[in-house]
Amino acid sequence: MSDQDAPDRRTFIVVGAGLAGMRACTTLRRKGFTGRLVLIGGEPHLPYDRPPLSKDVLRGKKDSTALPFDPAKLDLEVRLNTRATGLDAAARQLTTRGPDGESTESFDALVIATGATPIRLPGDGEQLVLRTIEDALVLRDRLVDGARVVIIGGSWIGAEVATVAREHGCRVTCLEAGPAPLAQALGSEIADRLRGWWDGIDLRVDTAVSRIDPSDSDRGAQVLLADGTVLAADVVVTGVGVRPDTGWLEGSGLTLQRGVVVDDRLIAAPGIVALGDIASRDSARAGGRLSLEHWDEASTAGMLMAEALLDPENAAVYDPVPYFWSDQFGHKLQYVGHRGPADRIEIDEVDGELSAVRWFNAEDNLTAWLGVDLPKDLVKHRKAVGGPLQQPVA
Ligand SMILES: Cc1cc2nc3c(=O)[nH]c(=O)nc-3n(C[C@H](O)[C@H](O)[C@H](O)COP(=O)(O)OP(=O)(O)OC[C@H]3O[C@@H](n4cnc5c(N)ncnc54)[C@H](O)[C@@H]3O)c2cc1C
Repeated sequence: MSDQDAPDRRTFIVVGAGLAGMRACTTLRRKGFTGRLVLIGGEPHLPYDRPPLSKDVLRGKKDSTALPFDPAKLDLEVRLNTRATGLDAAARQLTTRGPDGESTESFDALVIATGATPIRLPGDGEQLVLRTIEDALVLRDRLVDGARVVIIGGSWIGAEVATVAREHGCRVTCLEAGPAPLAQALGSEIADRLRGWWDGIDLRVDTAVSRIDPSDSDRGAQVLLADGTVLAADVVVTGVGVRPDTGWLEGSGLTLQRGVVVDDRLIAAPGIVALGDIASRDSARAGGRLSLEHWDEASTAGMLMAEALLDPENAAVYDPVPYFWSDQFGHKLQYVGHRGPADRIEIDEVDGELSAVRWFNAEDNLTAWLGVDLPKDLVKHRKAVGGPLQQPVA
């Protein structure tokens, strides 16, 4: 038997059965890895999609968002309800805890794709978050006609929850610490132009929340604002961002800094890559470190990571043009690129409404584009932002 015919006895482990982890498994097989491939997931489910949770699932149009994925076809060993609890990166050993207890095993390569967890605010009052299918089903049942819904945070998740809550006849209040919803992501000038979409919602900006206290009744909670105001709510939804799930990596030998620090090929240490919401990667395009909690990042990184494990010397640099979208208040927002704080802005309007925004750097290169209900324009702008010599797009 030649070397080429010898069975591959290596073990590759993928931790995190979300989008990035799923893509990593598929890609490793597609790129010819024939050794043992193990997928470890903390949830009881095979990989499912999260964007529809705040859209079709909340609306009641879908109960499941399972992704097309067949572990048997990929010859995968899948362990669900199992969490990675420790890693020794130098010794290449992973500790996990599952239904059968704790175990430690060796690996030849490891993919870390454990995503992120919603941030909760202080206090013992009930606060719902939206990250898992279970979260979405619980929240959906509570968004009933007349319910007093307080949403903390007017960013992507807050806006999408507010959209559905308003559709369901809830009395919605949104508390946003910044000067406008989405101001951090898009800048105040652009975010201000989208405020009209919040019609019918009690939107309070520059409003900080101190604590969530239990309610006097058996449901809901009381939201205590920094100025002492107390708001009674039947439902409190906290949407103030997420934190990468790195607790289990403390003491692993990997560098942790708002996620797992990886180089521009997604490599965290020899034989170990990190991708998706948990990765903090080097990006020449962004001129520094980039942590992107977007669907496209998790998907693309999962599809392009294989070389970093199979042939690290020749692995290509990973630095695609960032892309995310949001469906809110009957509109589709799509954003490509990475705007700089001092970028010049060009705005398109249709009938007085914001239609598109282009950001340009000091060299007049297009750095980012935002389209409102312009899905057909996405590809050309993504190309324009990504080109080596970016040109303004007509
Ligand atoms: C409600 C919602 C709506 C969204 N909408 C959009 C949108 O419109 N547009 C967009 O671009 N993006 C959107 N996103 C973001 C996008 O879904 C995420 O960026 C993407 O899911 C990240 O994928 P991931 O595989 O990195 O992480 P995840 O999908 O979070 O998967 C990580 C998995 O790892 C598991 N895990 C964690 N710790 C461990 C451990 N120690 N051991 C084992 N398993 C572990 C987790 O339980 C989880 O199952 C949305 C996200 C949410 C929650």
